[in-house]
Amino acid sequence: MDFTNSRLLAIFAHPDDESYIVGGTLALASSQGAEIHLVSATRGDKGIQHVEDPTEREHITNTRAEELAAACRVLGIATHEVWDFPDGSVDNLGTKEEELNKKIVEKIEKAKPNIIITFGPNGVSRHRDHIAIGKIVHRLLTLKLYNFITSVYGVTIPRELITDFEQILSTRKKTTGHYHEIPLHGSPSINDVERVDIASTLATKFAACRAHASQNPEGLIASFEKLPPVLQHFEYFLPLRIYS
Ligand SMILES: [Zn+2]
Repeated sequence: MDFTNSRLLAIFAHPDDESYIVGGTLALASSQGAEIHLVSATRGDKGIQHVEDPTEREHITNTRAEELAAACRVLGIATHEVWDFPDGSVDNLGTKEEELNKKIVEKIEKAKPNIIITFGPNGVSRHRDHIAIGKIVHRLLTLKLYNFITSVYGVTIPRELITDFEQILSTRKKTTGHYHEIPLHGSPSINDVERVDIASTLATKFAACRAHASQNPEGLIASFEKLPPVLQHFEYFLPLRIYS
């Protein structure tokens, strides 16, 4: 993947996906001169499960917005937007799905990216919101062709590496019930994905993760650091559509 002077639009589900999931790639793209625009479809207000008080919830969404802004500065993301679709229900939006479709199309037409990154099969962590937003973006891009887009990638974990990646998932699944169980065959083979070497930007990725202080970044970073290099030093992308 060549990011030199590209315009990159990343469409994800939660504030922190840009750091935990593709932070190394975004930092690398930024260092290569890419102009990066980010969308989070939800405010991530389910990020702390035990809080039911509405005032507290409002407080959390404000905190998460501030954390995202800080992470974007670390990664070199030019602009970011946080939309207010329900966290944990992106796969079940009902009448709001049309609104999400419309906002994504408007964003694409405004940002005019040549590269789009969203979630691919298995959503990396198997989170239902991840899988859902990836499917929605992918479907919209099959309905309408844009002459400015050259590539669309879905970030994923290839099936050959899922077992090793489980140790990361096990630290997160306990905090939320929003995860699909997807059999390994629902994930692409390592032969069908492209990988981005993030060894040079790993420290920046971790710094961006640490900006999300409310999301227990130290626990996740400690798990990352135990992963084999093939998972720690690379992020994996399934080409969903390559136009040129
Ligand atoms: Zn997420």
